This record gives sequence, C-alpha cells and structure tokens, in this order.
Amino acid sequence: MADTRRCIGSAKFGIEAHEAPVTEFPAQPSQKDGLGRMCKPHWNAYTNALRKASIARKAAEAAPADPEPIAAPEPVKAKRGRTAAAPAAEA
Ligand SMILES: [Zn+2]
Repeated sequence: MADTRRCIGSAKFGIEAHEAPVTEFPAQPSQKDGLGRMCKPHWNAYTNALRKASIARKAAEAAPADPEPIAAPEPVKAKRGRTAAAPAAEA
C-alpha cells in the first residue's frame, strides 16, 4: 500500500493542496524527510510561476518607461515666464 503525502500547493499561484502518493514527490535533500513539499507536476508549475513572476518583476524594474501617464507635471506652463506659482512637486 503506497503512502500518501500532502502536496502543499501554493495559494499564491492557484495551486491547490492535495494528497498524492509519495512517489509523486521529487527528492529534496534540504527537506527534513528528503522529499519536496509539492508533487512533481505542481512543483514544476510552482517553479515556473516563480520564474515568470521574477522575470516580470525584473522587467518592470528594468523598464520604468511604461506607457502609463506617470506624473506629467504640466511642462507647457513652466515655459510662460513665472515659475513662482508652480506647485512644488518634490517631497
Ligand atoms: Zn500537487
């Protein structure tokens, strides 16, 4: 009779926890019992999702020039002489 083990899944990435045969779990020496906490298919899905999230995060950090209208402080008005009335945008 095969033992089953709890696959913890990942709420963050929409992976549901469930029971699966221990043979479905990848070896993971860093774990106390030497087995991963998720079954192989879910572990793959999880690491893929992690990688994608990481890539997306890095891409977002590396390319701040999004097409979003972020803080366009009326550049036209500044040209018309007095700048005293311009609201201080800093801090
Ligand atoms: Zn699983």
